[in-house]
Amino acid sequence: MTTSGPFAVVSRRGEDRIRAGHPWIYRSDVVDVDATAGDIVSVVGGHQRVMGEAFFSDQSQITLRMVTTGEARFGERGWHDRIAAASRFRDSLKIDATAYRLVHAEADGLPSLIVDRYEDWLVLQALSQATERHLPAIVDALVELHAPKGILARNDPRVRTLEGLPQEVKVLHGDVPASIEVREGPVSYEVDPHHGQKTGLFLDQRENREAAARYARGKVLDGFSYTGGFALYLAPQCESVVALDASGDAVTRIAANAERNNLAHVTAREANVFDELRYFERDGTRFDTIVLDPPAFAKNKASVEKAIAGYKDINLRALRILNPGGVLVTCSCSYNVDESLFLQVLADAAADARANVTILEKRMQGRDHPVLLTVPETYYLKCLILRKR
Ligand code: SAH
Repeated sequence: MTTSGPFAVVSRRGEDRIRAGHPWIYRSDVVDVDATAGDIVSVVGGHQRVMGEAFFSDQSQITLRMVTTGEARFGERGWHDRIAAASRFRDSLKIDATAYRLVHAEADGLPSLIVDRYEDWLVLQALSQATERHLPAIVDALVELHAPKGILARNDPRVRTLEGLPQEVKVLHGDVPASIEVREGPVSYEVDPHHGQKTGLFLDQRENREAAARYARGKVLDGFSYTGGFALYLAPQCESVVALDASGDAVTRIAANAERNNLAHVTAREANVFDELRYFERDGTRFDTIVLDPPAFAKNKASVEKAIAGYKDINLRALRILNPGGVLVTCSCSYNVDESLFLQVLADAAADARANVTILEKRMQGRDHPVLLTVPETYYLKCLILRKR
C-alpha cells in the first residue's frame, strides 16, 4: 500500500461497484477502516491497490462516497476546483433565471453537497459528515468564486440524522433575508429560503415549466402547485388557472406571486388534489391543460405499491376531466418508481379512462440537476407531457 493517512479497505464486491462507476460503498463492503468521521480516506482494494479517495462516514450505511478514482487526489483545492467546474457548467447552460442549482452532489463530483443560487444568495445542504466537517472550506470556496451577499445552510433534511448530524438552519456567511425576489423566465417570485420546501423553490422543474408552456392553453388546473411554479409560468397564455395545494402557506404565496405578476386570472385554493379531482369529475368541470406534480409518493421500496395506486388514481381522474385535445403534464419525483414503471402506470390509467393518449415529451429534472449515467437512482424526476386525442 502506497498510502499514508486515513484509509478504508473494501471487499471484492465494493471494488466491483467502484469499477462500475457507483460512488457509494455500503458498510457491508468495507472490511477495514482507520479513519474518523468526515475524513477523506484512501480507498484500498485487493493486492493493496489504491482505488481512489472517498468521504468517510462512521454512522451512515453509506460508509464511503467516492470522490476520486485511481491516482487522482482531491487535495486542498478540491472543494474550490469542483465548485468552479460546476459553476462553469451552469454558466454554459445560459439559464434564463436567477434561481438554479449550482452544485448537485455526486453529479458534480461533490457527494452529499447541494448548493442552490437565489439571486445574490446561496443556500446549501451538507448531507454527510464529510461535507459538514469541511463546511469552512466549502464556504471559503463559494465566497471566493461567487462573492454572495449571504450563505444559508438549510441543514434540516431528515437524512442528516442517518449521519448522526443535527437538523438545523443557520447563516454561514453574510446576511440572508427572510424573503428573496427571484426571476424565472418572465415570472418573479418571493422565496423564503429559511422555511420554504427544499431550499425554497422546486428548481428541478424549471425546464419542465418552460416545456409545458409550449402546449398549455385554455382552462388550466395546476395540482400540487406549491408556490405556483407551473401556474404562474403558464398563466399569461391561458384563459384561467386554478392552483391547488394542501399547504395554506403555499397557497398564500401563490396569491401574492400572482398579484406581483399581474395575473388576476390565477386562483389558488388550499385543497386535497385527490378529493378535488373527484369533485370536478362529478360536477362536470373540465380543463384543457392539467399539471400534476405531487410529492414523492414512494419514499422507499416498501411504499412502491401504494405509490402506484396513488399515481394511477390522480392520472386516471385527470384524463377523465381533460377536454379532447387537452394536455396533461404529469410528474413523479419518486426514484423508487422508474420511468418504465411510471409509463406503465400512466398507460393503465389511460386504458381505464378509455382515453387515447399520445406522448408529446418525455422529460426529466432540469440540466442543472444532472443525472449520473452509472447511478440510475439519480434520475429521480420524471415529467411526461401527454395529449388526449
Ligand atoms: N409544482 C410545484 C412543486 C410541487 S411540490 C412547483 O413547480 O413549484 C408538491 C406539493 O404538493 C407540495 O407543495 C405539497 O404541499 C403538496 N401536496 C402534498 N399532498 C397534497 C395533496 N394531497 N393535495 C394537494 N397538495 C398536496
